[in-house]
Amino acid sequence: MISARDALALLRDGNSRFVAEIRSQDSVPSRARRVELTAGQEPFATVLGCSDSRVPVEIVFDQGLGDLFVIRVAGNIVAPSQVGSVEFAAEQYATRLVVVLGHSDCGAVMATLEQLKRPKENQSRNLRSIVDMVRPSVEGLLVTDLRHDLPSLIRESVRANIRASANHLRHGSEIIEQLIRNQGLLVVGAEYSLKTGIVDFFDGVPED
Ligand SMILES: [Zn+2]
Repeated sequence: MISARDALALLRDGNSRFVAEIRSQDSVPSRARRVELTAGQEPFATVLGCSDSRVPVEIVFDQGLGDLFVIRVAGNIVAPSQVGSVEFAAEQYATRLVVVLGHSDCGAVMATLEQLKRPKENQSRNLRSIVDMVRPSVEGLLVTDLRHDLPSLIRESVRANIRASANHLRHGSEIIEQLIRNQGLLVVGAEYSLKTGIVDFFDGVPED
């Protein structure tokens, strides 16, 4: 089992390689590794990321087959199936690190801001279910001075949404709370910059 701290270090190193345009040999898919993994998997971290095509989790962390247990959904929101997936990985594979990975200019966050400013009547119920999950973390920002500064409003909203998802996971179930209390499970929030490729772990990271 890899501890949360060690897993975090692995992700940071991998992201540094990605930014430097270096790819480790281990992250390149191979037939040998694929065959090796038929015996079982031991992913060292769980990542809840956004579905955005520009933020493929394994690539931005330079990881390979079998390394990460990845959940992706527009806006990296937390619904019961996401909580269940985190529980599953933690119990089945003893992953001790959970990362909520949002990103700059997230379309789901921007769509939510847009919906709050100019509500559309005919939005599909399914799409609305995503907007409704993002809404609580961003609507408070719309009544602050940030509303006059769209880039800052989007930036703060993305971060607020990541924090909310991480918090939701931390308290999402009795099982996860127990894993945090007794088994060293750590839930952190991080933001990927579309521009620089850098992942900033800004929420819930323990001090060294
Ligand atoms: Zn997104």
